[in-house]
Amino acid sequence: MMKARGIALNLILMGLPGAGKGTQAEKINEIYNIPHISTGDMFRLAIKEGTELGKKAKEYMDQGALVPDEVTIGIVKERLSKDDCKEGFMLDGFPRTIAQAEALQDILRDLNEDIDYVINVEVPEEKLVERLTGRRVCPTCGTTYHLVYNPPKEAGICDKDGSELIQRDDDKPETVKKRLSVNIEQAQPLLDFYKEKGYLVTVNGDQDINDVFHDIQSKIEK
Ligand code: AMP
Repeated sequence: MMKARGIALNLILMGLPGAGKGTQAEKINEIYNIPHISTGDMFRLAIKEGTELGKKAKEYMDQGALVPDEVTIGIVKERLSKDDCKEGFMLDGFPRTIAQAEALQDILRDLNEDIDYVINVEVPEEKLVERLTGRRVCPTCGTTYHLVYNPPKEAGICDKDGSELIQRDDDKPETVKKRLSVNIEQAQPLLDFYKEKGYLVTVNGDQDINDVFHDIQSKIEK
């Protein structure tokens, strides 16, 4: 399958929390210009705007638990049906369950689309704990930084819009362990699901950000 810039590319980004999916999504977006669909970001925006969806999602997110499938599948279906997804998309943080993966197959079939690649960014668990607790986020534009690996130019301030960076509640140490264990348990069946279907490509996420991106590019442009 030949994929190049300007050609529709339907991607799913996978990796445990902190694996660098968000950072790679930004780089993919710069080069391939496809919408980055992060269910976590959609929920956080809904919470910020105080919508019904936000109220529902907050109950679960505050506990480091997954938002129920029917809620999550609904927002993804709506998003993928928009015109800007016709030229490709990348899903980040979805699917998280087999039920979501199966629902996604149905959604894409109805849209006459298919997945091209499921990119699994792999990082050892102990590195993830270190990464997650050091993560800082811009509350205005959503850009993520890391105190050690990807610091902003000025400490505590977003490079893009000057907002004061925050630590997400779910990046605090007490929540990180819970998040990782929920995610590890959920991820393996999904990796098996996509491996069996032949969509899965794995890249080593435990290297420089640009090297991870280079590996992704070489796999999707193969
Ligand atoms: P993330 O930014 O992807 O780490 O997501 C943050 C939180 O949003 C998760 O811990 C879940 O509570 C919720 N969430 C995001 N995506 C999903 C999903 N696909 N299914 C269920 N809950 C999700």
